[in-house]
Amino acid sequence: MRKLMLSSLSLALFPLAAFSQPAGWNDPFPPHKIMDNMYYVGSKELASFLFVTPDGDILMNSGYESTVPVIKASVEKLGFKFTDIKIFIAGHAHPDHVGGDNAVKELTGAQVVVGRVDAEKTKQYTPAGKEHPMDRLVDDGDTVSLGGTTLTAHMMPGHTRGCLAWSTTLKENGKSYYTFIECSLNGQFLQQLDNYPGMIDDFRATYKKALTFPVEVWVSSHASFYNMADKYAKLEKRGPNDPNPFIDPEGYKAHVAQYEKSFEAAVARMQTQGQGKAK
Ligand SMILES: [Zn+2]
Repeated sequence: MRKLMLSSLSLALFPLAAFSQPAGWNDPFPPHKIMDNMYYVGSKELASFLFVTPDGDILMNSGYESTVPVIKASVEKLGFKFTDIKIFIAGHAHPDHVGGDNAVKELTGAQVVVGRVDAEKTKQYTPAGKEHPMDRLVDDGDTVSLGGTTLTAHMMPGHTRGCLAWSTTLKENGKSYYTFIECSLNGQFLQQLDNYPGMIDDFRATYKKALTFPVEVWVSSHASFYNMADKYAKLEKRGPNDPNPFIDPEGYKAHVAQYEKSFEAAVARMQTQGQGKAK
């Protein structure tokens, strides 16, 4: 509970955090294998994921510009090379997820994949004077493939207009798991989001859509959204017969329900305060 309140508080500071960083978000966190060829290489709060393939690696989400050295150190700690990253998938158009895209491009030369709908907004969060790298724009249903790994994009608008979640299949002990890399369902601080026309309807449709995926393993753009630290602690203690803690279909459904509830509460607050266009 305490953790939840702290992260809510940090998120409440979002507009101030546009180019400064909430304390602790960039702290290093032990990189770890989630399952199969998917690894966590993000900071304590800002999630980045690495998919290692025989043809090179895929990185997803850069964090702030200052998060990139943390990500690079994590990739190297796992024994991989940052320059083996051939494809980089940008996160949703908020500064805490795309602020480091330039730095990743400079260090790796990777093909930069950006969601088409979020692309214009993404450009605004580029470090001063630099042009945002965008080598490929993707839409709902598009796939990114490398060395036997395929990721499929899913439009989940609301938190940003073009928020993209991604799905793939991971294998462990002869079983396949539908794996979902969430964008963000966070609508609890509505007044601080862009409040674009149709945002409320988009959020409501996205919460419904979120429950249509057969999610088994899931993660999200913020470590706190999927209780990463708790799951990592379980992973560390995992015995040969213990389940992989990242297999969490019920936790996923509870997460969707929780964020839908906090979003609707925010809509109700907005309506009573007469702020914004709550349609
Ligand atoms: Zn965001």
